[in-house]
Amino acid sequence: MPKTPEIRGWCPGAFRPMASNDGLLIRAKTIGSRISAAQLATVAAISEDLGNGFVDLSQRAQLQLRGLSEATIREALPRLEAAGLLPRNAEAERVTNIVASPLAGLDGHAAFDANAIARKLAGAIEADEALRALPAKFLFAIDDGSPLPLCDIEADIFVGPAHSDCVELRIAGPDDLVILVELTEAIDAALKLARAFVTLRDGAFELRRMRRLVAALGAERVLGMARLASALAARRPKAPPAPFLGARQTGRLFFAGAAAPSGRWRAFELAQLAALAEAIGIGEVRLTPWRAALIPTGNAEAAQGIVDAARALCLIVSHEDPRLSVVACPGAPECPQAQGDTRGALARLAPLAQKLAGLDGVGLHISGCAKGCAHPKSAPVTLVANGGRFDLVEQGCANDAPQRTGLDISAIEKTLIARAKEHPCPTH
Ligand code: SF4
Repeated sequence: MPKTPEIRGWCPGAFRPMASNDGLLIRAKTIGSRISAAQLATVAAISEDLGNGFVDLSQRAQLQLRGLSEATIREALPRLEAAGLLPRNAEAERVTNIVASPLAGLDGHAAFDANAIARKLAGAIEADEALRALPAKFLFAIDDGSPLPLCDIEADIFVGPAHSDCVELRIAGPDDLVILVELTEAIDAALKLARAFVTLRDGAFELRRMRRLVAALGAERVLGMARLASALAARRPKAPPAPFLGARQTGRLFFAGAAAPSGRWRAFELAQLAALAEAIGIGEVRLTPWRAALIPTGNAEAAQGIVDAARALCLIVSHEDPRLSVVACPGAPECPQAQGDTRGALARLAPLAQKLAGLDGVGLHISGCAKGCAHPKSAPVTLVANGGRFDLVEQGCANDAPQRTGLDISAIEKTLIARAKEHPCPTH
C-alpha cells in the first residue's frame, strides 16, 4: 500500500529552502513574467557553480534552483541579490505569488501593463502586515488581455481587462461573478479581497485556497467582508493558451518560444537562451506558467535563429512535440515522498500520451505519489508510482482510487494503446 503523502501547504523561496533528496531547493523569485537576459544567465551560472546543473520552471513561472546545500545557499544568495533576484523581505516573499501575462508591456493591444500591476501589487502585499497570514499557495493572476491569456491558471484572485477603462476581478469559485473597478482601483480591490480571505479563513488549514473558502461560506460572504459589490459577467473561457512555441509573431512583436520536458531545464540551456536573448533578442526573457520561456526579438529572422538553436539543444519548440503530452513530477530519487521514478519512461510513453491528449494537451500524468503536484487535476491517464511499478487511474487525479495496480511499463503501454484506439484524439 503506497504511503499517504504529506501535504505541507508551503512553497520554497530564496530564504526558505525545501529539502529534496537531491539537496536543497530554492526559488529565484521574479515579480511578473519578465527576467532580463543577465538575470537568467546568473541563475544558470549559480546552478552550474553551486547546484546540480538543473533548473525547474514552475507552473507559477518561477525558477527553482536544485541540488544546493546550506553552504552553497550562503554563496548563492548574494549572487541573486546582486542580480536583483532576492526579495527584500523573507516573510513577504512567502505570500507574494503573482503570475502575469507573459508578453506584458510588449503587446500594443494589451489593456494595461500586467507586469507593472504585478510589481505594484507585490509592493502593496509587502507593506501590509495583515497579508502575512495568506497561505503560501495563494495566487494572484494579472491578465492584460493580450493574445496569451492566463485562462487556464488556477488563481485565487484573477485580474483581467473588462470594458472601457475597467478591469474585472474574479475570485476562484463562481466563474460568472466579477467585481468591476477602474484600473486605478484594481490593486486596492485585490488587497481587500485578500484581507477578507484572511479574516474569514481564520487560519483554517483546510481553507487554504479561495475556492475552498468560497465553497464553504459562499462568494457573497467574501465580497461582503471585502465591502465590494459584484456583477454578473460571461464565464471565463477555459481554453488552452494560444500557440507560443516556435517562432511567433503577434502584432509587431516577434518572439521565440521554447520549453523543456516537464519544466526541467539544464542550466547550460538557459545560459544559451540568455546569451541569444542578449545577442539577437531585446535582452530579456519571459517566463510562462506553461513552463516555457519566450524570447522577444525585433524580427522574424532572429526569432527563427533562436528556435533553431533551441531545437539543436533538444528543447521543445513545437506544440506537436509528444513530450508536451506528459506531465511528470520530479519523483524518486529527488522527492522524499516519491514511491518511485517518474521520468524514466517519459520519452517512451509520450507518443501514446499524445494520442490521448485532451483540450489542455495532457494525455498522461506520471506522479511520484498520490499528491499529484505536477497536475493537480484530472488527466486521461494518471500513473502513480508504487514501489517500482505504477497504479493506473483513468479520467481522474493522482489521489483517486486506481482501476489497476502494480503495472510495469509494458502493461502500461498496452493499456495506452487500447485507450488510444477506443478514444482517438480529435486533434491528431
Ligand atoms: S507528487 Fe511528486 S513531487 Fe509531489 S510529493 Fe509526490 S512525489 Fe513529490
